[in-house]
Amino acid sequence: MKYRVNPKNGDNLSTLGYGAMRLPKDEKLAGELLGYAIENGVNYIDTAYMYAGNEALLGRILSEKDSQGTLRDCVKIATKMPPYLVGKREDFDKLFNIELERLRTDHVDYYLIHMLTDVAVWERFKSLGFLEWLHQKRESGQIINLGFSYHGGKDEFLKLLDAHDWDFCMIQYNYYDENNQAGKAGLLAASARGLPVMIMEPLRGGKLVNGMPKSVYEIFDGAHVKRSPVEWALRWVWNHPQVTTVLSGMNSMAMLKENLRIASDAEPEDFTERDFELFAKIRQLIEDAMLAPCTGCGYCMPCPKGVDIPTCFTSLNDIAIEGKRRAFTKYLMYTAATKESSEASRCVKCGKCEKHCPQGIPIREKLELVQKELEGVLYKPARFFVKKFMRFS
Ligand code: SF4
Ligand code: SF4
Repeated sequence: MKYRVNPKNGDNLSTLGYGAMRLPKDEKLAGELLGYAIENGVNYIDTAYMYAGNEALLGRILSEKDSQGTLRDCVKIATKMPPYLVGKREDFDKLFNIELERLRTDHVDYYLIHMLTDVAVWERFKSLGFLEWLHQKRESGQIINLGFSYHGGKDEFLKLLDAHDWDFCMIQYNYYDENNQAGKAGLLAASARGLPVMIMEPLRGGKLVNGMPKSVYEIFDGAHVKRSPVEWALRWVWNHPQVTTVLSGMNSMAMLKENLRIASDAEPEDFTERDFELFAKIRQLIEDAMLAPCTGCGYCMPCPKGVDIPTCFTSLNDIAIEGKRRAFTKYLMYTAATKESSEASRCVKCGKCEKHCPQGIPIREKLELVQKELEGVLYKPARFFVKKFMRFS
């Protein structure tokens, strides 16, 4: 196993972390997997309040005692508070205490605000007394590090980074999403602020393994080094020195062993010119398959009407690899789970953005396509419920 130092506190964290959300429900198998991972150097395990059974399962497995002590003693636990379940100050304690109980532990090493989508959510937390609560938890040693996990556009991520003196953050990052969501710009910005960055979805929920155009796998097959698509994808992430720990949801022994093997070998800044050339070809193929060849550069922003143009195009392109249903769900989350909505239909076709797009994308026309594909009859009622759920209305 390789380790990278958390620049904030000196923790030596394994480059491969266990994303426990996908742990099998079979407790014996889950225990074998976790035991093997920890024995082979994994020391960071991620779960969340929203994965209720999962926190409890993890708690049972990690608290089992043998002559060496418990597995809990060997790992850092990361779990998350869901902001949408917090309505009053007492909820911080209520949710956190349930998590400690489920996890059978007296502290959380890396505590995240789950899916923080908007600075307004953070402001609401503060108005409920979160900072005072956090101070008490830090003093009592129950919370060691505070961070947030993020899905959303680049601009809001940068605002969130500056909204608090965080200890760490977690973003979605993989070769397909280099310029989507927080993207590379977000990774570099977080790292420049001295934060360790945990990575989720390095294989985009498996889509990079078997959901890409056939031509992508042909490029990998004919590459100068023989590596599986999984290995190329994981190495691409680890090649970034700003990345601290990459979470993988390993639910079989074969998958775990394969990831451990790759993790024990992958180094930062290890890619050669030929490796970069390979990914340049892959990127071209992906862009060719996209409905909008947007690179996520953000030069078209800000839109005076609040349309998050790159995020709208990310969702449009998601249709090709994720299918329409998942693309719709993500579009809803990106555009409606914020205080101010940012969907394509807000566009008034002023054309200001198009003058700045280096890709020459007919932005207005493509936004109409986004609206047609992703803002059907369900969008408005679903947006209403998302806003209510997120406590924006
Ligand atoms: S054309 Fe539409 S998306 Fe572009 S700046 Fe104007 S309102 Fe915004
Ligand atoms: S300027 Fe063009 S390529 Fe860049 S984010 Fe906007 S639409 Fe995408």
